[in-house]
Amino acid sequence: MTCTDPAEQGSARCLQASCHCGTVRFDLVLPPGKPEVRRCNCSLCRRKGAAMLTVRVGQLRILCGSDRLTLYRWNTGTARHYFCSQCGIYTHHQRRRDPLQIGVNVGCLEGVDPIEFETSEVRDGKLDP
Ligand SMILES: [Zn+2]
Repeated sequence: MTCTDPAEQGSARCLQASCHCGTVRFDLVLPPGKPEVRRCNCSLCRRKGAAMLTVRVGQLRILCGSDRLTLYRWNTGTARHYFCSQCGIYTHHQRRRDPLQIGVNVGCLEGVDPIEFETSEVRDGKLDP
């Protein structure tokens, strides 16, 4: 499902997103309903401090700047963490636990107040290998 297939979206929301400097732009399709937003306290997430929502692979599309995205991998190297090499902002990552899931930085979404999406759910990632 992409943002160009409105017939398939139902009440799904299509959101535009970008890094801080605008080099990296992407869009994503949110399933209907309140998005599941979470924070994580693993050694990486606690440092970047971003609230994240989850989409499936294929629901996020990089529109421009993919050549400026830097990939950061650590530990098992399974998860793929992307950030803009120009402004340093974390945009999204492919999850280790489910590589079909992509975590998206809520703060990158245009027209969305991150507070609106906030939730108290914290995933306990401290014990991740
Ligand atoms: Zn940037």
